[in-house]
Amino acid sequence: MKCTHCSKEIPKGTGTMYVYKIGNISYFCSNRCYKNEIILHRKLNPKEIRGKKVAAK
Ligand SMILES: [Zn+2]
Repeated sequence: MKCTHCSKEIPKGTGTMYVYKIGNISYFCSNRCYKNEIILHRKLNPKEIRGKKVAAK
């Protein structure tokens, strides 16, 4: 899988998966990418960004 933010390939067992309230799933290679993407989305869709952060397997 690839990082949603920087498109870098994420090695298995690492990274973060974020499940949005609207059903979308994003993968992030690092906490930095996660934060950048969430902040970016928060400005666009404050209602849709809510979700939960889970460890990617
Ligand atoms: Zn990334």
